[in-house]
Amino acid sequence: MSTDTNQDIQKTALVTGANKGIGYEIAAGLGALGWRVGVGARDEQRREEAVTRLREAGVDAFGVPLDVTDDASVAAAARLLEERGGLDALVNNAGITGGMAQTPSTADLDVVRDAVETNVIGVIRVTNAMLPLLRRSSAPRIVNMSSSVGSLARQTDPDADSGPVAVAYSPSKSFLNAVTVQYAKELANSPVLINAACPGFVATDLNGFRGHRTPEQGAATAIRLATLPDDGPTGGFFDDDGVVPW
Ligand code: NAP
Repeated sequence: MSTDTNQDIQKTALVTGANKGIGYEIAAGLGALGWRVGVGARDEQRREEAVTRLREAGVDAFGVPLDVTDDASVAAAARLLEERGGLDALVNNAGITGGMAQTPSTADLDVVRDAVETNVIGVIRVTNAMLPLLRRSSAPRIVNMSSSVGSLARQTDPDADSGPVAVAYSPSKSFLNAVTVQYAKELANSPVLINAACPGFVATDLNGFRGHRTPEQGAATAIRLATLPDDGPTGGFFDDDGVVPW
């Protein structure tokens, strides 16, 4: 198949946690670019409401029942995508904080475990379920929604604002960054490009709407990384301004 022909074929993306916040806007943005978008969401009502809103906005959206912490749910999502004709881009956006103020010395281990289960293991679980589909795409892309609070360089820079002390959330994003690099190493000789994205400080449920950016602004980097050209970067960490230090 020639590349020119492939450019005419509608591409399909899966966005996890797409029922609200940044994930919803990633789905809307990819839809506006002509992509068909699987709206990955664990709650049926929230999922269907998002799909309806996206369709009303002209997006070719469909619901994908998906709890990233559940093996059976993720396997079923992969089967659904396969039935729908495959997958070109996976945006691992679903995430939780477990609360942003978590001092290490008083850590609730269940909170730490839950953050890692969703933000890291969940990404590995979904990625591995979707990789067989992605490998059949002519231009497979994976975006892991990270955060600059997971940047060890920022956390150790006395002049940088790396957020509050958060022993579950921030290290879970550092872990996710490391996982992203490991996938990039394994997939180096394949067409799969995998990168981590930071959306900036965005007003969503995640932070009680304290962020100063809109979800649409927060979606921009992930959309760019999901639609990279074949010679685009892999194994990197980016925000709107370019490279984020690890
Ligand atoms: P949000 O509005 O709270 O959305 C989080 C999404 O993840 C929701 O759709 C939520 O679904 C979903 N989710 C959580 N656990 C899930 C699970 N087990 N299975 C499936 N879906 C699950 O937060 P957001 O700000 O848009 O965050 C999106 C991503 O950006 C996260 O990875 C976050 O860490 C990252 N991020 C956000 C900011 C920011 O300033 N907001 C900054 C840096 C990075 P429910 O509705 O069912 O709970």
